[in-house]
Amino acid sequence: MRRISIFGATGSIGQSTIDLIARRPEAFDVVALSGGANIAQLAHDARRLNADIAITAYENRLDMLREALDGTGIEAAAGAKALTEAAARPADWVMSAIVGAAGLAPGLEALKQGATLGLANKETLVCAGSLVLRTAEAHNARLLPVDSEHSAVFQALVGEDMSAVERIIITASGGAFRDWPLKDLQSATLEQASSHPNWNMGQRITIDSASMFNKALEVIETREYFRVEPDQIEVLIHPESMIHALVGFRDGALMAHLGAPDMRHAIGYALNWPERTDLPVERLDLAKIGQLNFRAPDLARYPALRLARDVMDRGGLSGAVFNAAKERALDAFIAKRIGFLAMADVVEAVLDRFETRSDLIDAEMTLDNVEKTDHLARVWADEVMTQQAG
Ligand code: NAD
Ligand code: MG
Repeated sequence: MRRISIFGATGSIGQSTIDLIARRPEAFDVVALSGGANIAQLAHDARRLNADIAITAYENRLDMLREALDGTGIEAAAGAKALTEAAARPADWVMSAIVGAAGLAPGLEALKQGATLGLANKETLVCAGSLVLRTAEAHNARLLPVDSEHSAVFQALVGEDMSAVERIIITASGGAFRDWPLKDLQSATLEQASSHPNWNMGQRITIDSASMFNKALEVIETREYFRVEPDQIEVLIHPESMIHALVGFRDGALMAHLGAPDMRHAIGYALNWPERTDLPVERLDLAKIGQLNFRAPDLARYPALRLARDVMDRGGLSGAVFNAAKERALDAFIAKRIGFLAMADVVEAVLDRFETRSDLIDAEMTLDNVEKTDHLARVWADEVMTQQAG
């Protein structure tokens, strides 16, 4: 039996992970499950999977969670500290599926106890890539990508030498607004940005797909995970989301990874790695699909992609700044306090401010420095938004 923990169990990725492990209950021993405000879902899954402990992110929900688990013997806990403590409990495989920078500390803790970490939480590598890789290496822990593009690249690289890689191409559906005239984006609403043409995901990543902030995070994630140079990474608009990524080799060969847009593929690959077993995902019928389309992304339309280049050039803590500013701007867009296009303006202004802080530019990448910088960038983002409103 493999001991398994899932952080962000109540979310879109977490539920897909539970779907896979619940099909083979004899194979898994569930240690920890975490969630947020949806206590009913968290308690339901903790009960049916017989977890050792369930943790909610919110301390004010602890009583509710305790009550929902009453009589089961399953421990209940709450808050960020309880999350990292639970991640330190011995497990063989841990899913990192919290959304946002909050996923970083539990992921690092799981690596420290030597677990294999399935990484859906892309913010982990964006905010603290070198720290995360260093931690994995020091503790002999493995990091497996669960983002669909990165899982695709990982699979295309099996048996290959990184020195033979010329470029990595990650695809993007283009999100909700890919066919909208540029001038209409100004007035794009929250409801319009919250639906994705191909994927069914959490609200935050769905909006990030419309703005391409998701792809921007993924470009940085590619750089951090595969250690390639920024100019070796390309983004390609591919509206059908069937090809998830391609790897180009020195001899001109391109290896593409195709699959239906279903995250259970990338999750299952990481769960079963290095083996492959049956997965309940749709098989592509290419004759029926008939054709696949591609086009280059328009940088005027997607400023997030340009900002990601700046972040890769700067390195260090700039990824943490970029992500934190983006999270704050997204909060404000969700609260209908700023418009769709203002999100990129906020992030750019915060990155400009970071450029004036040589103390932070030269700071060492430790968890403490990442968390302090994340906090500061959120304060700056709020200040920028107040200025823009006034
Ligand atoms: P979601 O919003 O559906 O779920 C997020 C989970 O994190 C929930 O369990 C929620 O309770 C928990 N959470 C939220 N804020 C928290 C906090 N401050 N502290 C602790 N827990 C918190 O999100 P999702 O779509 O499942 O995405 C999860 C992660 O996976 C994100 O980093 C996302 O970018 C990445 N990802 C998602 C998909 C997808 O298809 N959904 C694909 C690739 C990568
Ligand atoms: Mg992705």
